[in-house]
Amino acid sequence: MSPWVAAWWLAWSGSASLAVIPEARLEPEQVAPTAWYVRGTSGQATLENRGFNSNAGFVVTDEGVVVIDALGTPGLGETLLTAIQSITDQPVRILILTHWHADHAYGAGAFREAGAEIWVHEGAHDYLDGEAGQARLAERKRSLGELVPQDMELLRPDRWLSGDLEFKLGGEEFILRHLGPAHTPEDTVILARNAGVLFAGDIIMRGRIPLVGQAPIMDWLEAIDRLLEYHPTVLVPGHGAATPDPETDLAMTSEYLHFLAREVGCAGRDFLPFDEVYAGVDWNRFESLPGFAEANRANAWGAYLQGEAGARLPDCDP
Ligand SMILES: [Zn+2]
Repeated sequence: MSPWVAAWWLAWSGSASLAVIPEARLEPEQVAPTAWYVRGTSGQATLENRGFNSNAGFVVTDEGVVVIDALGTPGLGETLLTAIQSITDQPVRILILTHWHADHAYGAGAFREAGAEIWVHEGAHDYLDGEAGQARLAERKRSLGELVPQDMELLRPDRWLSGDLEFKLGGEEFILRHLGPAHTPEDTVILARNAGVLFAGDIIMRGRIPLVGQAPIMDWLEAIDRLLEYHPTVLVPGHGAATPDPETDLAMTSEYLHFLAREVGCAGRDFLPFDEVYAGVDWNRFESLPGFAEANRANAWGAYLQGEAGARLPDCDP
């Protein structure tokens, strides 16, 4: 199935009016007998792509549907719900947000109206209650016009998750691992164990450098090890195409985190000067990957600070 691309968008039209912007088309792609995802266009949320720049997934069980992420506008959430209802008569029971960013969460209202419970990790509190969430909402109201209504407010979840969680629904086993703070404090990945599908949100490296920031490296590595034990067969990232080789993607992320910890984190523990340490590392294995220029130095700084603070790191002791 080909992703929706607004190839027919009239690029010459400087003053975009919604009347000439085609409806976002969501064509769920099946990745397991019980699991599907929809894939947004790559790049930023724009009027041209109707804010459809991220992925969402869903797992159908015989006791209801679990949805992972809700896309980036209220309209996209409704369109996703309609697409799900074209595949199954089962009611949508739970919407789990991998993290509370605009492109993954603004469609959540449609699912609440349909009776679903909305879950997100409690790490999203600061974003929802603070300036960052409001600033992004104001920006989206400007940049996406009436796709994000002027009276829209940020939805509160029905349930705040406080860590890892496992639950069963209709014969499927859902395993939630909190990996944040990484891309966000609340980052959570969701494995539908029987389907073998891992919904990774925005934090597992798929051919790119992840945003590590202040994420506790040791916790992240341990979560990846636990996920590898389940041998997922498909990984659905927060953006871009699903991969049938999740073990390679998980291993790449793990390898990069180990490298950061060993080369930079341990030097922080020894209080060596950061700039010299950073300049002395041979980044050759990673520097050709997308995201390196934007993220690597900040990632290294995060690892260094963890070392300096005496946080647990995997590779310092001989
Ligand atoms: Zn995203």
